Amino acid sequence: MTQPSVRPGILDLKPYVAGESTLEGIDRIIKLSSNEGALGPSPRAVAAMRAAAMDMHRYPDGACVALREAIGRRHGLDPARLACGAGSDELISLLVRAYAGPGDEVLFPAHAFLMYRLYAQGAGVTPVAAPETDLVANVDALLDKVTERTRILFMANPNNPTGTYLPHAEVRRLREGLRDDVLLVLDAAYAEYVDKNDYEPGVTLVDSHPNTVMLRTFSKIHGLGGARLGWTYAPAHVVDVLNRVRSPFNVAAAAQAAGAAAIADVAFTDMARQHNDYWLAWTTDRLRALGLGLTDSVGNFVLATFHTEPGRTVQDADAFLRGKGVIARAMGAYGLPDSLRITIGTGEEMHACVDALTEFTGG
Ligand SMILES: *Cc1c(COP(=O)(O)O)cnc(C)c1O
Repeated sequence: MTQPSVRPGILDLKPYVAGESTLEGIDRIIKLSSNEGALGPSPRAVAAMRAAAMDMHRYPDGACVALREAIGRRHGLDPARLACGAGSDELISLLVRAYAGPGDEVLFPAHAFLMYRLYAQGAGVTPVAAPETDLVANVDALLDKVTERTRILFMANPNNPTGTYLPHAEVRRLREGLRDDVLLVLDAAYAEYVDKNDYEPGVTLVDSHPNTVMLRTFSKIHGLGGARLGWTYAPAHVVDVLNRVRSPFNVAAAAQAAGAAAIADVAFTDMARQHNDYWLAWTTDRLRALGLGLTDSVGNFVLATFHTEPGRTVQDADAFLRGKGVIARAMGAYGLPDSLRITIGTGEEMHACVDALTEFTGG
């Protein structure tokens, strides 16, 4: 039987492998594989989603008006310059499809978030990766890779899975070195966790330079990964394009309600940030003391690089952790075959993880 022909690039895609959440024979799982918020969702977000359930027969507000107003209030942004998506993943996909096509290139740093490459491939767009320096994006290497076919440059800042970030001055230098018609997408999924004077998530660059877009998500510090909610702050012409290409009801009503409540719960967000500050430093110090290689992560996760002698490899470590019910994320798909990414969970979870790795390394 003949089949309809699939568009070029699609059969080269491997389905995304999400962080695992179950282990055979183990009841109590410690899931540190998907950078989900350690403290779960805000109780106010849970209450808002429960209340929204009563109106589940109604279509959502396709324009996400109340949600955009809530985001605008919290961040001091004009709601007319915001667009929402079913996760920032959807917005990445929409931007690729709207601004690039077969023969075009999208550019990103070598160990960038995988979805930039996957959505490009799915759209028949050529993904191009630029080298990094010690797992940090390199502005000059990125600018070197720009061609007349480059349409979009994606940069997660801070980056997942490396956890490293570029200071604002470097991001500005990147923007200033790019042609104006290249869309610069600053994916600030972990912005709320960063406590650095020289960091800026992208708002000022969206305001000061043409064709620059900031992406944000509710999946990390706000703990709403299961609700699928992300947003962008962008120039009016990009918002207009997104409103044309998105599905009319791309964000579920329950997600809109939960998001508006979550973003207004400043005390909860502050608590989540303080939790992360403490346990990120604690985990980094403990794992370094065991002789593992750790990047200077500013996100809600660490990237730990293991030794390569038999018995001490990352595969051995991963298996050992699983035996203790701890699921981290192997980074082979990211070209980091000796590394594990470990999300910052609760204090108890971090103790269990560090205790297991201490036993594993014989530290
Ligand atoms: C987790 C993550 C996202 C968020 O994805 P959602 O679709 O909003 O859940 C986006 N970018 C990066 C770099 C991430 O790590």
